[in-house]
Amino acid sequence: MNILFMGPPGAGKGTQAERIVDTFGVPHISTGDAFRLAMKQGTPLGQKAKEYVDQGLLVPDEITNGIVRERLQLEDCNSGFLLDGFPRTLQQAEALDGMLAEMGRSIDHVVNLKVDRGLLLARLTGRRICKACGATYHVMFNPPVQEGVCDKCGGELYQRSDDTEAKVGTRLDEYISKTSLLLDYYSGKGLLREVNGEKEIDEVTGEITACLRGSL
Ligand code: ADP
Ligand code: AMP
Repeated sequence: MNILFMGPPGAGKGTQAERIVDTFGVPHISTGDAFRLAMKQGTPLGQKAKEYVDQGLLVPDEITNGIVRERLQLEDCNSGFLLDGFPRTLQQAEALDGMLAEMGRSIDHVVNLKVDRGLLLARLTGRRICKACGATYHVMFNPPVQEGVCDKCGGELYQRSDDTEAKVGTRLDEYISKTSLLLDYYSGKGLLREVNGEKEIDEVTGEITACLRGSL
């Protein structure tokens, strides 16, 4: 199954992706994770991406499209994929259509997680991520059993440098001006499924699972 997760930063895409990939047996492809890894490793791609990510701006399309193109060719995508955080511009969406057409494939479902802007700031500034396994927590809404320690692997939790109040504003503005128009793009293709992302994490997972199984 070929799935896209849409929604503003903080809507819960990564949190839900961690769960949905286990159920559907597809790899989780997050362009944000790919950029953070390249930045940590200090590769040329990472150095270029850092100029944008650090400011809360979108990385240029040609760089981002190249990463996804390479990733989709890997063997684990033969069973499908869950793309999280891509596409984020119309140009990326059209590029993705082109890549998939070349591979003789297409998107099966686009799930949009809807969350009000007011809640996103609290979600993003309280987000914590495991350095070792990447699991996502929230200091209030989804805390680990022991503060600062990952429940799943015992790894240390950290706060993303772009999860500060100042950068969150820019990231949400980027979403509104460049990404939100994609909802019309996918709605026009009859692929868009809307899910209320403000409910409890388990409830959201249940709704997404039902959507993907075609029973909602
Ligand atoms: P995204 O990948 O869309 O940017 P995340 O999955 O990282 O968003 O979620 C952002 C923050 O909100 C995280 O700290 C996460 O634990 C928390 N969160 C995610 N889903 C919910 C939910 N349904 N209710 C409350 N908090 C949530
Ligand atoms: P995320 O982890 O999805 O919140 O993304 C973190 C940052 O990575 C974003 O603020 C952008 O700077 C960059 N990024 C991630 N995905 C994309 C994309 N599809 N297009 C452009 N920039 C992206």
